[in-house]
Amino acid sequence: MKPKLNHLFILMSIMLSFNSCKSPATKDNKSVAKDNFKYLLEQFADVKIIRYNVPDFDSLTLQQKELVYYLSEAALCGRDIIFDQNCKYNLLVRHTLEEIVNNYSGDKNADDYKKFMVYVKRVWFSNGIHHHYSNDKFIPEISKEYFAQLVKNAAKANFPIEKGETIDNFIARLTPILFDPTIAPKKISLDPSGDLIKQSATNFYDGVSEKEADAFYKKMKNPKDSTPISYGLNSKLVKENAKLVEKTYKIGGLYSPALEKIVYWLQKALAVAENDQQKNGIKTLISYYTTGDLKTWDEYNLIWVEDHSKVDFVNGFIEVYGDPLGKKATWESVVNYKNIEETKRTEIISQNAQWFEDNSPVDKRFKKKECKGVSAKVINVVQLGGDCYPSTPIGINLPNADWIRKEHGSKSVTMENITYAYDQAAIGNGFLDEFCYSKEEKELSEKYGFQAGNIHTDLHECLGHGSGQLLPGISSEAMKNYHSTLEESRADLFALYYIMDKKMVELGVLPNLDAAKAEYNGYIRNGLMTQLVRIELGKNIEESHMRNRQLIAKWCYEKGKAENVMELKVKNNKTYVVINDYDKLRKLFGQLLAEMQRIKSEGDFTAGKKIVEDYAVKVDPVLHKEVKTRYEKLKLTPYGGFINPVLKPVVKDGKITDVKIEYPEDYSAQMLYYSKNYSFLPIKN
Ligand code: ZN
Repeated sequence: MKPKLNHLFILMSIMLSFNSCKSPATKDNKSVAKDNFKYLLEQFADVKIIRYNVPDFDSLTLQQKELVYYLSEAALCGRDIIFDQNCKYNLLVRHTLEEIVNNYSGDKNADDYKKFMVYVKRVWFSNGIHHHYSNDKFIPEISKEYFAQLVKNAAKANFPIEKGETIDNFIARLTPILFDPTIAPKKISLDPSGDLIKQSATNFYDGVSEKEADAFYKKMKNPKDSTPISYGLNSKLVKENAKLVEKTYKIGGLYSPALEKIVYWLQKALAVAENDQQKNGIKTLISYYTTGDLKTWDEYNLIWVEDHSKVDFVNGFIEVYGDPLGKKATWESVVNYKNIEETKRTEIISQNAQWFEDNSPVDKRFKKKECKGVSAKVINVVQLGGDCYPSTPIGINLPNADWIRKEHGSKSVTMENITYAYDQAAIGNGFLDEFCYSKEEKELSEKYGFQAGNIHTDLHECLGHGSGQLLPGISSEAMKNYHSTLEESRADLFALYYIMDKKMVELGVLPNLDAAKAEYNGYIRNGLMTQLVRIELGKNIEESHMRNRQLIAKWCYEKGKAENVMELKVKNNKTYVVINDYDKLRKLFGQLLAEMQRIKSEGDFTAGKKIVEDYAVKVDPVLHKEVKTRYEKLKLTPYGGFINPVLKPVVKDGKITDVKIEYPEDYSAQMLYYSKNYSFLPIKN
């Protein structure tokens, strides 16, 4: 489970703080100016493309560099999988667009062509035709006629034309997929009034209704099984001859050509693994990809969670945010190595996990008696792949299986070279000037925002998700389509409650409680107001992390009204969020945390649904419009994604003698390069 860059508080704080995460040991207010590396590469539509630096890459040994190189190749080989999982049309559309880009012989300086390129870049960015965050299908800002002309003026193109199809038929087949807003309108729709599967364009089910899928997986489960596998995690559920069958993602099964390549590079990695634990893990992962057996996946996770090698990686079908039923996982990869200096901070937090659990405001029955195997580190990312590219998380906490987390613990990471790059790219963009009520609020954010944001991520990942326990017999899936929102709220609340605890200062993790104030300001400002820049006028909030943030901010706003804990103030016709009483706000966070844990532990679906529908979904249309207008004037983009570095092995006499790291600047070139060299799946899977 992981917060994406969209993590609101992070977004807020990162957008404008000047504090460095690179400062070692002493965390005190090191105001850092922009460094010399070029971070911000380009902006289009509502996104910006950022480059991240990989500090101290040359401090790795040759063996470690080689390992990172092989794992990075494996990370790139699954790119087609995520396109196909997001929607069955995506590979078809991407190949068609790229054929045009590579072969169009008309005027590439024409305005229409530029608009076409924005569409292409958006498809690359979202790994498909739906917005990566809002999940709505986006439509090209060119005419259908111009699209037809593009296709016809790419004479040498090798379009994915079907047998017997003319170019006109091909254009006629593609046009509605690109231009008709009623075809595959949403990647994921969580609207509870309809069939979640039928109204979602994700490609995890075919010809199956929500009811049928629910019944199918319910039958598999044994409520007495204390170590259940993650049923349905790595397969597509389809109806064949009126029978439901799972098409498993494995070698010889669905997505085989890509998985074979991934395994090829994992085999290479195996030979240079750092130690036996890691070797054993890679072996088991290969075995899982070969058999598709989810028991082997659990075995792999048990090994991985105890693997504390310097070089580490995520590679698999992992997060279930992309499935409206929360069962099927998208493919992703992150290759990284430990940032030893910054990890000292997260080690202190994880060593004190039991203290945090024992002292939380949660009912005793829902607390973990023993916090096992909580480990946390700060990492440098070297390569992003699949669902983590180009839009990436800023923290990860895995594995996801509840019983593994409870019995064996979890590994949690804060991706600090990513948050640092985001921070650097945003320096001086005017956001805080526009949305902070006072000079003091702005200064607090500049001074502590970045640091406090990272510590929030540490707490959210390392302690938040790992805290608490279910009552016996309660399923972790009891919250159904509300699960992600409620789970993210619980983790955020744990972080918010504790970041204002003097224990954080005593432990030396937080410089002082002013840093916590900066975090509270940013979180509430975002949850009540500024995150709305991401929502189209007239629409509700759909995305789980955004729902979670509004839920928390709005619930505390409503519950704190009588005591004026916070208020919306208007100055010069502009609305601002002002927190009047930080201690009382902290108490409210604690109360809500206790309630969220109760809902999860007791499996109280009715209460879970109600609190989400009451606080997390609906938007105040007047405030929404105001916030968007103010934001647009700043010419900022609310989303960011990253371009990967390139790893180049230096080969002498058939042996790798070094691995060089390069930092390209051209986003489109990287995408075209990936498509040329890492396209392994057929258009129809
Ligand atoms: Zn999370």
